[in-house]
Amino acid sequence: MLRYPDPSAYHVRKKLSQLWGVSSENIVMGNGSNELIDLLIRIFCEPGDSILTSQYAFIAYKICAQAARVKTIEVPMGEDLKFDLRSISELIDRCEVPPKLIFIANPNNPTGTYLSSEDLFQFLDKYKEREDFLIVLDEAYNEFVRAKDYPHLLDKFKEYKNLVILRTMSKVYGLAGLRVGALIGTIEVVDYCNRVRNPFNVNSLALSGLLAALEDTEFLERSIQNNSEGLDYFYDQFQKMGLRYWESQGNFVLFETPRDAKLIYEELLKKGVILRPLAPYGLNTHLRMSVGLPEENLKAIQALSEVLQI
Ligand SMILES: *Cc1c(COP(=O)(O)O)cnc(C)c1O
Repeated sequence: MLRYPDPSAYHVRKKLSQLWGVSSENIVMGNGSNELIDLLIRIFCEPGDSILTSQYAFIAYKICAQAARVKTIEVPMGEDLKFDLRSISELIDRCEVPPKLIFIANPNNPTGTYLSSEDLFQFLDKYKEREDFLIVLDEAYNEFVRAKDYPHLLDKFKEYKNLVILRTMSKVYGLAGLRVGALIGTIEVVDYCNRVRNPFNVNSLALSGLLAALEDTEFLERSIQNNSEGLDYFYDQFQKMGLRYWESQGNFVLFETPRDAKLIYEELLKKGVILRPLAPYGLNTHLRMSVGLPEENLKAIQALSEVLQI
């Protein structure tokens, strides 16, 4: 630990390149994918420019944009709480000055909803010739997806030159505390990232930890299996309690609360259960519950049922 970390993350990128079937030249590592979101905005936007995303999209896009004095255009979501690509497309076509970056989380956090292959490729095809903006596909939860029509994009950014993909090791690998994420993009985009990022943005411990984790395919499978079972358990319990929920492709599920979610959130806190309130997103009667170990899931559901008295 007396030496600086490898600034090129050589071994990690090599391993990921094999795993993902992309050249390591197309990969850049970040201190969590949050750093890469921030970096993309700082590289490709100037103060006064805008980024485009959806209402109820992962909030980091807007927060990073704000810090860079960049505007966020948010396209409303419908009742299904999905990215509305048709409205997004209409807005892009109407814009006199197009946004510099379009952020699409697939699946999205906190809604858990996803875009199908058909819908997404239609969108990417329509804009594949555009050089004035990048389309950033944030795939933080891709490993958990059960939907059969989920798009696989890793081998597609050669065809779609303006496509950038973000991945994270915080979710399925359970390494949130180590802070490692990855960006996959054209050599040009990767080159810009390498010029602007801090040289030692991913520390030695994170690099070694990740290398070991990437070998541990059994953990990965268990993590995915545990998540599937946890989600099914939540769905079942929500149905029994008569709570509306949105089917999720992530490791959490969004549900609607019968009264102000903040009050329910506070009651749950007293029972030692922390759910995610979504008031910062403008969702005041919704909570997001993450999948944990079976006993944690049980405890969370029991606490919720007590608080709601159902
Ligand atoms: C958790 C999350 C991230 C960021 O993860 P890092 O821990 O910074 O790698 C990015 N996008 C989405 C949609 C997330 O939910």
